[in-house]
Amino acid sequence: MTLATAAQAAYIVAALLFILSLAGLSKHETARSGVASGISGMVIALAATVVLAADGSGTLAVILLAAAMAIGGAIGLWRARIVEMTAMPELIAILHSFVGLAAVMVGWNGFLEVEVGGTRLPGSLLGIHHAEVSIGVFIGALTFTGSVVAFLKLSARIDAKPMMLPGKNALNLAALAAFAVLTVVFVASPNLGILVALTVVALLLGWHLVASIGGGDMPVVVSMLNSYSGWAAAASGFLLDNNLLIVTGALVGSSGAYLSYVMCQAMNRSFISVIAGGFGIEAGPAGDRDYGEHREITAVDTAGLLKEAKSVVITPGYGMAVAQAQYPVAELTRRLRERGVEVRFGIHPVAGRLPGHMNVLLAEAKVPYDIVLEMDEINDDFATTSVVLVIGANDTVNPAAVEDPDSPIAGMPVLRVWEADNVVVFKRSMATGYAGVQNPLFFRHNTSMLFGDARQRVEEIVAAL
Ligand code: NDP
Repeated sequence: MTLATAAQAAYIVAALLFILSLAGLSKHETARSGVASGISGMVIALAATVVLAADGSGTLAVILLAAAMAIGGAIGLWRARIVEMTAMPELIAILHSFVGLAAVMVGWNGFLEVEVGGTRLPGSLLGIHHAEVSIGVFIGALTFTGSVVAFLKLSARIDAKPMMLPGKNALNLAALAAFAVLTVVFVASPNLGILVALTVVALLLGWHLVASIGGGDMPVVVSMLNSYSGWAAAASGFLLDNNLLIVTGALVGSSGAYLSYVMCQAMNRSFISVIAGGFGIEAGPAGDRDYGEHREITAVDTAGLLKEAKSVVITPGYGMAVAQAQYPVAELTRRLRERGVEVRFGIHPVAGRLPGHMNVLLAEAKVPYDIVLEMDEINDDFATTSVVLVIGANDTVNPAAVEDPDSPIAGMPVLRVWEADNVVVFKRSMATGYAGVQNPLFFRHNTSMLFGDARQRVEEIVAAL
């Protein structure tokens, strides 16, 4: 067996491990083994790639590869070690941008190798090769700028509000039409000028698509970019004639697209509207309505309320992650359950800043899985709940989404916490959440605000219990 055949066999094993990894990651209980499969698959894939490079291109190629892997690996390790859980979506967005950039470079390299380097391809394959270059560069460039804008928005370096250029849908359609025309011309007579034009159109389109999407829809954008980065990698796989890259890219591309679809359904957003850069979204009127006065409560009084409660539902949000309040929350849960109080968690699909954010935090703090319920599983139970603790959540418990058709988050399903007997909201101020929308929940007769850092306040409640 030649080394090349062995490497192809290793690629198949790696692809199978990636599929196992995705399957494992779909459940809490098997997530760890899913991660282990993914790591093993990647180690095998990298080793096979190094062997292939050594076999085909000699020592210099291996030295360059090893240097790139050492530098990339060191930067990756460093970032992963210091990143806060709350900054994960930005990190993911910027990593997607690298995949996009790599696909652009692979595409350009494919063009230069044939047109300048003189690599010979049979006539029948030449047209396909140029089409692959064009598609790879287009998806890659779009993913690159789209991910950079997502990174800037998520890290609050630019405003999260949607950019509303006049005729924005026409602009997007014109960019797509330009891509189609440029690809046809490029395949017929490949030249550098057209490739540059194609790259610029894709860079601008990626920027515009994500800039046009409002803060509330960013979760879907991140998973859409994940999908685009997969297709960009698959396109590179065709160009590099690398089967593993094609399989892995298709896995990432299709699972990312499916996740985006599921998230759109959960948020009652149109899938087409989000991928088309907020197609058809009209901005609602400014939310400066007067909702009246809010009431405040202390940690000690909240403990009193909890002692009397029969059932408690905790709905965590982004603020719980910021405050790292999951550990005292787990302790509070334990104490209340010891007293015979039924405690459950209600998790909104986009609570926090990345899919599954709250589940990860609660699992980290060893909250039992069976009391952590999805929004649809718990929403009908709020009406018979004594106390709801809203810990650092805001947009995901906003009644305006169901009651105010003019609200920018109108139509998004939310946790109907206001139906409970008592609601205690943990936050530091009356500030709005990620979507920048005022929350009428805070002014309801059965809602009390417990101001301060969520971790500190929950610890005080535990002490008072
Ligand atoms: P929100 O972002 O709506 O609100 C979080 C609240 O937490 C804020 O109102 C803030 O109020 C409070 N908070 C912040 N720090 C603390 C702290 N230390 N102690 C106590 N409270 C604190 O959170 P949700 O989870 O309800 O909603 C998620 C939002 O993020 C949605 O709009 C979603 O679309 C968006 N999003 C979700 C992503 C995902 O994949 N899940 C990705 C990107 C965006 P204050 O400042 O007054 O303390």
